[in-house]
Amino acid sequence: MKISEIYDQKANSEYADGKSLSFEIFPPKKDSELKNIDETLEILCELKPDYISVTFGAGGSSNCNRTIELAKKIKNKYHVEPVVHLTCLHYSKAEIDEFAKLLTDEGIQNILALRGDKKPDIPEKEDFEHASDLIAYLKSKGDFCFLGACYPECHPESVNRISEIKHTKKKVDAGAEILLSQLFFDNNQFFRFLEDCRIAEIDVPIIPGIMPVINAAQIKRMITMCGAAFPVRFQKIIEKYENNKEALFDAGMSYALSQIIDLLVSDIDGIHLYTMNNPLVARKICEGIHNII
Ligand code: FAD
Repeated sequence: MKISEIYDQKANSEYADGKSLSFEIFPPKKDSELKNIDETLEILCELKPDYISVTFGAGGSSNCNRTIELAKKIKNKYHVEPVVHLTCLHYSKAEIDEFAKLLTDEGIQNILALRGDKKPDIPEKEDFEHASDLIAYLKSKGDFCFLGACYPECHPESVNRISEIKHTKKKVDAGAEILLSQLFFDNNQFFRFLEDCRIAEIDVPIIPGIMPVINAAQIKRMITMCGAAFPVRFQKIIEKYENNKEALFDAGMSYALSQIIDLLVSDIDGIHLYTMNNPLVARKICEGIHNII
């Protein structure tokens, strides 16, 4: 099933505020660990997400294979709709063709089309410059539903907010039917971005991505990598509990839940949870909103 159909059904359902719940997971680094992912998937799928997206590592065919293997498992064994992430900066058209064929052969219809991060150690190929190029190219290669990434606080390479919105619009005009957002910790950043998108006539579902921050290593990674604003309320949690694992888990979960509830009571189409392959986190979040979503 195409993810766009899930949103169409929700929009037309008698429950006017039917919102989606989706998860992101990543494939294990080694093929041998693929078997152990079942424990995680069993719990995640019991929580009845509308779909699960599977990340994709840049460069090399083994990355594609692990992503596809995991997506196949989600679809065929757990009967949940998978979304396959696919980056294009380091791939040629011929390689993308192969990937599209694999997806078609496996009946996987949903692609989160991405450019991918620039990496000094992996040579870029010249066939695709942006995610919108990948979507435009893949349109003729199969019957796919395309999702795209969006950045409430701007992509790190963006010149300014205006160009960010213009490029997001280009992605949607190219064929992205749903946008999944980069993680953020300040809901006001997301609400402002959503409003700007609507003014720019970007009318597709824009799904906020939420990552519960539950350990110190994760916090350090966030600070150096994602450029998200840290509200004072969130900073105080980190300062107070950085070295207290259990307390940080409780406070991080509670912060994420308060973000999610604030989003759910507003006019949004769903929540995308960055699970970090931690089923306990997903379960706790779902328990916290099971009468709401
Ligand atoms: P683009 O849409 O191409 O945007 C990249 C930059 O170019 C932006 O600054 C944008 O403003 C600008 N731009 C876009 N279009 C144009 C244009 N037509 N002309 C000029 N400038 C333009 N990475 C992975 O490697 N694997 C994953 O599985 C993965 N999953 C992700 C999931 C989500 C929900 C998100 C938000 C990101 C994910 N990423 C992943 C990271 C992503 O690959 C990087 O953020 C990457 O740097 C940009 O990808 P993009 O598809 O947004 O690129």
